[in-house]
Amino acid sequence: MTNKKLKIIINHAKIYGFIFRSSDIYNGIKSIYDYGPQGVEMKNNIKKFWWNYMVKYRNNIVGIDTSILMNNKVWLASKHIKNFKEYFIFNKKNKKIYILNKFLKKIFNKIKNKKKKIKNIILNLYKKNKIKILNKILKKIIIKYNLIKYYKWTNIKNINLMFKTKFNILKKKKEIYLRPETAQGIFINVKNVKNSNRMKIPFGIAQIGKSFRNEIISKQFIFRTKEFEQMEMQFFILPGEEKKWYKYWIKSRLKWHYYLNLGKKKYKIKKHKNLSHYSTFASDIEFKFFNKFKELEGIHFRKNYDLKNHIKLSKKNLYFFDYKKKKKYIPYIIETSLGLDRIFYSIFCSSLKIEKINKNKRIYLKLPFFISPFKIAILPLINNEKIIKISEKIFNNLKYTYNTIYDNKNSIGKRYKIQDSIGTPFCVTIDNNSIINKIVTIRFRDTMKQKKYKIKYLNKFFKKKFNMTLFYKKNI
Ligand code: ATP
Repeated sequence: MTNKKLKIIINHAKIYGFIFRSSDIYNGIKSIYDYGPQGVEMKNNIKKFWWNYMVKYRNNIVGIDTSILMNNKVWLASKHIKNFKEYFIFNKKNKKIYILNKFLKKIFNKIKNKKKKIKNIILNLYKKNKIKILNKILKKIIIKYNLIKYYKWTNIKNINLMFKTKFNILKKKKEIYLRPETAQGIFINVKNVKNSNRMKIPFGIAQIGKSFRNEIISKQFIFRTKEFEQMEMQFFILPGEEKKWYKYWIKSRLKWHYYLNLGKKKYKIKKHKNLSHYSTFASDIEFKFFNKFKELEGIHFRKNYDLKNHIKLSKKNLYFFDYKKKKKYIPYIIETSLGLDRIFYSIFCSSLKIEKINKNKRIYLKLPFFISPFKIAILPLINNEKIIKISEKIFNNLKYTYNTIYDNKNSIGKRYKIQDSIGTPFCVTIDNNSIINKIVTIRFRDTMKQKKYKIKYLNKFFKKKFNMTLFYKKNI
């Protein structure tokens, strides 16, 4: 069922110009995708929604756009070179690779969790990174519980997930990394931003940009890819205020997600048990992709981990000064980190509707209006000079305010079908009535209902439909 639905989604995304497989003419490249004409518009709308909410309409958060390639010392200080690893196992029986923690879950399921003691021993070893001993114990368990018929694997191995590239072609050893997160670009610029924009704590720095991770397992379309975009915000706070701000940001981020109107029940907050190498407490906002809840966004308390390490290695003064207490300190940080491709995927999957109407199948993309690639389609019904002239006038009148599309090709039924498939919420049709009575028909995507409107009221109608000011005013 899930696979069938996923196939429909991948197919729809391709046919209607949202997402193409990268290097398609050469049979693609695993886990890398391109965004088509509709995809890029939709992506830009998501970015704008995030940027408006996180940066533009707040007076204590500013934006930044840092480089993908950085000095290796950044990754040395952040401990990515040492710790940004994934452990995995290769099962020779079915020639599949398993991420270690997922594999452990499989083992626990097979021994039916009866042996709680064993489970605890294994988890403890895993948490403490005692991989060699874990390897030995796992092999014993497999034999003891007769799981050998399922598994025959190589020893537990690990790789660092960062991509490497050559920086200086003349120097042999000058390898550098493509960034695996946008966050470090923010940390190393904190002093620059604080000074240039006279930021006072608490304040945030946000950025949207590409990250790269050589993921071992990257199935499920754009859920997990090797090249992806992140929308991250690092919020710098006084030590001791972390609980307050952590709660604030979970609540605030949920408000943002709920406004997409995909259904509140599709979101869940999950506290981390296995923390990444920097987090002291952290939660994920999970989303129900098909039938399973999975990570959509991370809200992490990073303490002063990153700045402390950068101060140590760079020997630069990245301290803040507390004028009340008259002493220097390193601020704490709450991070919100959302994958742009992942949120795109969640919206796209939830919005694709397939309905049966009188034995006919209707497919439409019920996107939130403000996320739709095009807001309005202008469709002249008859190809005559006067109608075309009015249609073009309406189009030119609207296009500077709303992303508007003009289409006078094909039958009206086919044109509606195309607009439904790319999620355009309103189609405006122009006919003889538009010449005589200055009236057009608006067709509503979700209900397929049609209503007549005076041309002179069109601007007012759309202004009301697309106005988001109230949301920003109430929720920031
Ligand atoms: P996961 O557990 O899914 O691997 P993570 O905990 O490693 O994610 P973070 O490092 O916290 O993820 O990154 C923050 C966000 O970036 C994630 O919540 C997700 O939305 C997005 N993200 C991370 N890795 C990928 C990827 N390979 N492809 C697409 N989006 C990603």
